[in-house]
Amino acid sequence: MPDERPSVPDDLHGTALRAEMLRKELRHHGRLYYALDTPEISDAAYDALLRELEAIEAAYPELIAPDSPTQRVGAAPSEAFAPARHAQRMYSLENAMGMAELEAWLERMEREAGGRTLGFMCELKIDGSSIALTYADGVFERAATRGDGVTGEDVTANVRTIRSVPLRLHLDAPPATVEVRGEVYMPKESFERLNEEQEDAELPPYANPRNAAAGAVRQKDPSVTASRDLSTFMYQVVDPHALGLQSQREALEWLRSAGFRVNPSVEHCPDARCVRAFCEFAIEHRGDLPYEIDGVVVKVDSFALQDEIGSTSKAPRWAIAYKFPPEERTTVLRSIRVSVGRTGAMTPYAEFDPVLVAGSTIRKATLHNADEIHRKDVREGDTIVVRKAGDVIPEVVGPVPGLRPEGARTWKMPAECPACGRPAWREPGEAVTRCTNVACPAQRLERLGHWASRGAMDIDGMGEEIIGRLVRSGLLCDVSDFYSTTFEDLAALDMGRRKMDGTPVTLGPVVAAKLMASIEASQDRPLARLLFGLGIRHVGATVAEALARAFGSVDALIDADIYELAQVEQVGPKIAASARAFFDNPENVALMRRLHELGVRTRDEASGPAREQTLAGTTWVLTGALERLTRDEATASLKELGAKVSGSVSRKTSYVVVGVDPGSKYETARSLGIHILDEDALGRVLATGVEPEVNDR
Ligand code: NAD
Repeated sequence: MPDERPSVPDDLHGTALRAEMLRKELRHHGRLYYALDTPEISDAAYDALLRELEAIEAAYPELIAPDSPTQRVGAAPSEAFAPARHAQRMYSLENAMGMAELEAWLERMEREAGGRTLGFMCELKIDGSSIALTYADGVFERAATRGDGVTGEDVTANVRTIRSVPLRLHLDAPPATVEVRGEVYMPKESFERLNEEQEDAELPPYANPRNAAAGAVRQKDPSVTASRDLSTFMYQVVDPHALGLQSQREALEWLRSAGFRVNPSVEHCPDARCVRAFCEFAIEHRGDLPYEIDGVVVKVDSFALQDEIGSTSKAPRWAIAYKFPPEERTTVLRSIRVSVGRTGAMTPYAEFDPVLVAGSTIRKATLHNADEIHRKDVREGDTIVVRKAGDVIPEVVGPVPGLRPEGARTWKMPAECPACGRPAWREPGEAVTRCTNVACPAQRLERLGHWASRGAMDIDGMGEEIIGRLVRSGLLCDVSDFYSTTFEDLAALDMGRRKMDGTPVTLGPVVAAKLMASIEASQDRPLARLLFGLGIRHVGATVAEALARAFGSVDALIDADIYELAQVEQVGPKIAASARAFFDNPENVALMRRLHELGVRTRDEASGPAREQTLAGTTWVLTGALERLTRDEATASLKELGAKVSGSVSRKTSYVVVGVDPGSKYETARSLGIHILDEDALGRVLATGVEPEVNDR
């Protein structure tokens, strides 16, 4: 597990300034969150900023201010409520971000225990608001919020309305006084209902159930609290020794017996493995719970050991909150750049300081287009919140406005293409700005790369770098040049680096020979792949297949008029017009001629009058080597008859063709009871166009 702690720059002056800005920003968000229950940024983003400040303060202790948000719990209590001083301090919890930090804490606890048996209680971290309840002679007396940990707010009247809070303890001999602590929360369903009501009343929605719960507890009118459907889970007995309790496990049992609601998902763990398994289980089932949790709290079970281990001013050292992996982090946006695609689309993207999000380091994220940038108002120099959309694609959520450096300017789409310097053009009503110069080198690179890519002509080994070098050395201008390049040209290609003796590093004969073979192999691809590889606007792989099936050759396409094109299934007027425009361009027709002359197949072998679609609606899978046909040929022939050919076997598969040495697809097909054919049977189907007999093999 990589270290997720933020790094700290070594420029003291700049760092001190950053620390001050962070403190100011954190105080602002702390107030919005704790005092007003209206956070503006996500918890993950807040935590990321807090951790950055913690890292700075750890590296430069001289920068720690006593009022720093790293040194305090929560916020000062509101004056709207009577102050409630806590008999014992109410703590926050230390966080472990990621398994590595949790394991480091577990090891520390092992050391603290010095060989004594150590057990841990694992509990869900309920995402609500903490509450302290006091009982005198078994009767509910006072409820207080945490406030700043020393003084909270007296919210007795409000909490009295929460049904799960017993007004009298279910004990025959209740203690003279006892204080218990836990969490007030709002179930997800009630939260959604509340926000619907807020919307109906044209009031702002609550950010999350936690803030809604905290807000409901701190209402001036108890009848409003009563209407909010709050519930509680209690997890702590203050001064447990007075009740003869030895451990957290016993305390939870006592709480239950006294009539409190105690969360049932707890586990006593003897070791780190068990703790880890509990955390993993909680992550997996988090969404199934009717309330929000944001982590797992792991506590040393024995009270005697807890007392020995002690607390800091902010949190106990014997407990830790393992926070679920953050989906959001903050980082600094260094620059907004523009990339140019093969159709000339200019796409802005953010380049930021590397940051670890959901397990991988990201540095860049697309910003889509100028409108999107202005809607989010992100500017170079901003501290930004990033996340992975659907946990895969990096995304910029937005800026943290309070950390914006002075003079940060709104971003403008450049008026010229960054690659060729020619004017860019944005069609009225369109979001995309384009470079209109077809000879633009960036577009050219993208187009050449697309031609060589796997879904198109599949020139194995012909990657971005080699294409770039070939273009720069003048060997590659358009896609036909792939086929006029010689072995010698490739072997001598300057790779832009020098050897120790100062001579240039070249591609060399071994790689050159491999590339020549890949280029040769690509000359014989089916027509659909060539049409897709040309990068005609709106002609994706499926449309290319449809066009290839309908026309069978490049020549037929060049001759087709727009109406004939539009007749083809999957091809509407927009695609037809785009294809027509492509073949109306004499340069493109000349390119087709050149490709043909250089030996690239521009018609499908089996082309001719289209065959009857007798296999329409069937799905085929090929596995193992066929002896008389290549995989591509078999695929093309099946498609000619209207069949769909898929790469994997599922219940939807109609037939599986099995060649020599079939893979696991054969086993899967057998276990699913799918019809299996050998090459001879396939041959009969292709020759006659008749669907196979079910027991053909
Ligand atoms: P915390 O919520 O991270 O953890 C401590 C709290 O966990 C305890 O006080 C307790 O109330 C609760 N808890 C839940 N289940 C528990 C259990 N089983 N055992 C023990 N405790 C349990 O810490 P915090 O100091 O209350 O608040 C910090 C949190 O508030 C962070 O997550 C932070 O992101 C968020 N915050 C967000 C913003 C914002 O602007 N979004 C601002 C300030 C704070």
